[in-house]
Formats: sequence, structure tokens, C-alpha cells
Amino acid sequence: MIPSVLPTYNRAPLTFVKGEGTWLIEADGRRFLDLGAGIAVNALGHAHPALVAALSEQAQALWHVSNLYQIPQQQALADRLVESTFADTVFFTNSGTESCELAVKMARKYWHDKGHPERTDIIAFEGAFHGRSSAGIAAAGSAKMTTGFGPLLPGFVHLPWGDLAAVRAAITDTVGAILIEPVQGEGGIRALPDADLAALRSLCDEHGILLILDEVQCGMGRTGKLFAHEWAGITPDIMMVAKGIGGGFPLGAVLATETAAAGMVAGTHGSTYGGNPLACAVGCAVMDIVANPGFLDEINRRSGQLRQGLEGLVGAHPDVFEAVRGSGLMLGLKCRAANTDVLQAAYDANLIVVPAADNVVRLLPPLTITEDDVTEALRRLDSVAAAIEAA
Ligand SMILES: *Cc1c(COP(=O)(O)O)cnc(C)c1O
Repeated sequence: MIPSVLPTYNRAPLTFVKGEGTWLIEADGRRFLDLGAGIAVNALGHAHPALVAALSEQAQALWHVSNLYQIPQQQALADRLVESTFADTVFFTNSGTESCELAVKMARKYWHDKGHPERTDIIAFEGAFHGRSSAGIAAAGSAKMTTGFGPLLPGFVHLPWGDLAAVRAAITDTVGAILIEPVQGEGGIRALPDADLAALRSLCDEHGILLILDEVQCGMGRTGKLFAHEWAGITPDIMMVAKGIGGGFPLGAVLATETAAAGMVAGTHGSTYGGNPLACAVGCAVMDIVANPGFLDEINRRSGQLRQGLEGLVGAHPDVFEAVRGSGLMLGLKCRAANTDVLQAAYDANLIVVPAADNVVRLLPPLTITEDDVTEALRRLDSVAAAIEAA
């Protein structure tokens, strides 16, 4: 008999009932060190006082009004994002895959309005993840996500990850945009070298096509800059955001330049919940903290500490770990042992990590992780490796 919850997930037998900063408390009282943060969602950890206050204050005043009316919290968050990024304008969604939907629509509308309705193709990359909507799975294109769900939304060209020569060859006069994660998350914490991201920007400029960045996982401070593309010194035309921006409350956004967004006039797009007062009150509280240069500096210090410790673990346990990948607090351990064994041993050591493709284990702790908690995480990972070696 089918379970009452549609069984699309293989769930671990763990039931968390409370969160405190970087810690999750299981129903039986065990305390887990959380290096998953709900897959890069709980950017400020669990029950951060500023977020609890923002949410409860807004909850007393007003939860929802339609986008038919002015929403000051939404306006404030949009202003904040525009001030802090390349963007001139923002649309709020409730998830990453909704942000993907709008990014695709926006690129198509841009070319339609420019008199080139044939430029519908979007170049995307193997190993990508853009969510589970029809556009999201078509954009990523992997058999794992698309089999059985055809006919797929047409208009995506899939190229090997980061293959610039292939991109050059694939830019025809039906291509309108390039869509890429500066650091692939689900694909195994694969960071595109800064020079390659800059080269993609140049190719887009040369051919007049749009660069769409999916920063749903790598954005909002995760790599030690507010957005990952800042490391490469470039800006996109359109950017998808979600996960960390809500700190655990469902919130996403599409950021765009005025030029890229010009066709999205009244009536061309909408969302019942997107940009509601509760979500945006929380989003403002997240931005107030994460967009702070001092906060980003601290992420880079914790990243250095974690990365150095992980390099040590790779050296000490070469049969378990192969290499460290990623940047900021978006790190991956490429494993020699099966990453599922590492995951299980981590659970046994009261440690939460997240598996990814390419036999990688992801470390995506709350950006607020303390020096002591990084030290403890490394100690637990060391015991995880020892347990696997002993097995
Ligand atoms: C998680 C993720 C998405 C999808 O976000 P949802 O909120 O699950 O729809 C899209 N792109 C990237 C890079 C992601 O990590």
C-alpha cells in the first residue's frame, strides 16, 4: 500500500524536533552537529533570534496579502537586493525551481520582444540541478530526473560541464542564453574556475546572449561572497536565488538587469504567495546579517579552518577520502569509500552531512558555525573515517 506521504524520498530514520544554531536535536534527545543546514537553507542556523523575532512580529501583524496590493516588506527586500548586487529589479518566488521557471520565461520574452523569437535555446550543463519543475528537469536534462516525464520542455542544449570549446561551438543563431551554476551543488560541489565564468561572460557579450546564473545553492554568502559570481568579477543578466535567502522560510527570487527584464510587464508573470509579508520580513532579516562585510569575512575564516582540517583528513584517511572541493562553506569531500557509507557512519557519529553526485559528501554548515563547532565537526569526521577503515 502506498504510504500516506508520497514516497519520492528515501528518508533516514531520524526525526529532528528542535534546532539550536548548528545543532539539531533528535526525538530521542541525541544532539547532531548539522553540516547540512537543510541543504544550504538554514544559512543562519536554527532558531536564530533575529529570524525568530522577524517572523513572529510579522505573524502578529499580517501574513498574506495579494500582489494586487503594495507589500512594504517585499519592496524593502527588493531594494536591499538591488543595492547589494548587479540587479535592477527582483521578482519573488517560493522556491528555486520557480525561480528557474521565471528565468527561462524572461530569457524567451527578451528575445521575443527583440524580434528574434527563434532564439529560444538555452545552453545548460551536465550534472546541473535546477529543481523539479518541468522547466527545471528539462534544463538539467539528466535521465535520472527526466525519464518517464516526457515530452520535455524543448529548448535546452546540454554540454559537458564547463567545456568552453563546446560552448563556443554550440552558440548558433537559435541560442538565447547560457544557464549555469557557478558551483554545482547536487552535481558534486563542482566549482567553475573564475576564469571560465569570466570567459562565459565574454562569450555572452560577444554574441549578445544572456548569462543566467543559478545561485540557488551557492548564493547568499555560501561561498564567502554575497553571490558566488563576485569571485570572478563578472555579473549575470539574470540570477536565480532561493534556499539561504529565506533562512528556512520558503522564499526565492529572480534578480535581473533592466534590459533582461524589460519584457516582463504587468500580466506576464505572477505568483500567489511569492513575496508575501512573512517571507519577505524574514528575507530582510537574513539580508541584514548576511550582506554584512564582517559576516562574510567570518565565513571565509571558518572556511579556511574547515578546509585546512579537511585536507588533513584526506591525508590521514586516503582510503576513505580523495580530495576537498568547493569554496567558502560550500565544501565537498570527494570520497574513495562509498559516499553512502560515509553518510551512514556520519549519522552514527551524530553528524549531518549531505550526499551529492560524483561520490561526494557535501558540507554546507550554517554560515554562523563557530570555531569550536568546526573543530568538533573535524573531530567527528575523523572518527567517521576511522570507523569506515575498521569496517
Ligand atoms: C535546490 C536547488 C534548486 C531547486 O530549488 P527548490 O527550492 O528545491 O525548488 C535549483 N537550483 C539549485 C542550484 C539548487 O541547489
